[in-house]
Amino acid sequence: MKHCNGIVMDKYIGLLLACCLIAGCTQHNKGVEEEDITEDFRCTCPPTIYLQPYNDFSQQEAKALIPHLNQFLNDCSLPGIDIEVLPNIQLTDSLLNDKRTRYRADKMLKSLPEEQFNAVILLTHQDISVTYKGRADWGVQGLAFQGKHVCVVSDFRVKNKKRDNWKVVCHELSHALFNLPHCPNDDPHCIIKDAKGHPDFSNKTRLCKKCAGKIKI
Ligand SMILES: [Zn+2]
Ligand SMILES: [Zn+2]
Repeated sequence: MKHCNGIVMDKYIGLLLACCLIAGCTQHNKGVEEEDITEDFRCTCPPTIYLQPYNDFSQQEAKALIPHLNQFLNDCSLPGIDIEVLPNIQLTDSLLNDKRTRYRADKMLKSLPEEQFNAVILLTHQDISVTYKGRADWGVQGLAFQGKHVCVVSDFRVKNKKRDNWKVVCHELSHALFNLPHCPNDDPHCIIKDAKGHPDFSNKTRLCKKCAGKIKI
């Protein structure tokens, strides 16, 4: 059994293969592979999920996500988890890519103080990227360390931000908090369906029954 807590920062270095990334580069049409770590993972769900807005991602925008997250958690039979918005912090130049055009999602996750590695969702309007399949700088909507309670979401590549950004948050949260892999049914209505290079959350509002049934407390 793996536990969600007691995480050591340097353990993340080898975890990128287990990450989820939602590709937003429409010019690239390759699917995203993801490792299904284990089926019997049990998550000690935290009492609080923290939202960490960066720069101009306002407190109001972060707070607007809370009702959606509460509904999602309720649909997952996980009511009663508090959601709090942390004070804004600033992205630093050390988190930029080599060309200084995007912020590195992996660096953002690894930059967190260890005590914050417990159910925190980073929120930004800035473009974020990872290295993926030989491409040094692949733009993404989100990145999660699967089963490790940390994820980052950027709405930079989300076309209908008001309608869909909370869904990207719930997609990444499902990887990070529930250790879920992408939907094995490839259900078009399942919020954790693999984006396969073309994120489309227009018809997704919740996990399918099979994915929801995998969550073990
Ligand atoms: Zn994913
Ligand atoms: Zn599913």
